[in-house]
Amino acid sequence: MAITMARTNILKLENIWFAYEKGKYVLKDISLSILKGDKIGIVGPNGSGKTTLIKHLNGLLSPEKGRIFYNGYEVKKRRELTRHVGLVFQNPEDQVFFPIVEEDIAFGPRNQGLKEEEVFTRVKEAMEYLKITHLAKRSFFSLSFGEKKKVSIAGVLAMRPEIMVLDEPTLGFDPWSKKEFLEIIDEVSKRSAIVITTHDLEVLDHVNRIIMIMDGQIKEEFVDKKEFMTKVFEHGLNEK
Ligand code: ADP
Repeated sequence: MAITMARTNILKLENIWFAYEKGKYVLKDISLSILKGDKIGIVGPNGSGKTTLIKHLNGLLSPEKGRIFYNGYEVKKRRELTRHVGLVFQNPEDQVFFPIVEEDIAFGPRNQGLKEEEVFTRVKEAMEYLKITHLAKRSFFSLSFGEKKKVSIAGVLAMRPEIMVLDEPTLGFDPWSKKEFLEIIDEVSKRSAIVITTHDLEVLDHVNRIIMIMDGQIKEEFVDKKEFMTKVFEHGLNEK
């Protein structure tokens, strides 16, 4: 008999409801557990609620109804999540805090209240991890798109989040940068659970769970890309 070890549940959303405008629910009764070692791909049509969902994971938004648990404890203040769940925005320019690369990467750990020595270590380590040490003194705005993206990931990595969430991370990448990026994600996933929203089928080769969101609800979960593709092509995305 195979012995299966239960993986630790890091973050659990329980029956989450959210509306930007009163009564118009964008998330409807979402329940989702993110486990240690998870690499989750979130797929679904534009406007289905993917970005809104991931903003709940790091506390940028809080649900109107439902509960969130972090390591088994209910989250009462959404800011509690920010130090444990890092969000990499779609557009790296949306998360630049300082113009000089190393200062920018230092912003997150500094904001966590870490000592300067520790901040320095974290920044150095994150830059080495993403192979961008040579960019340390450069102006963020002089970088290529791919380099900016790496800086924004380094900034999140330097906070050593338990979960790293990435919104449409491969958008705008050429095939070479994409390959390199996906290798980075595989590396990062050794330290943090990963959640990625994506329309990019190549990304789905790198995840262990695929969650399909439609109209603010989790419609289905697939174990891998093969199962996802079979279902989508055989039955069509819109079949209820
Ligand atoms: P996705 O990421 O799947 O494209 P979103 O979560 O961005 O979907 O959007 C889900 C729905 O919420 C859409 O109908 C969108 O127009 C709406 N929405 C998103 N952000 C806001 C906002 N700040 N104010 C009002 N409606 C919003």
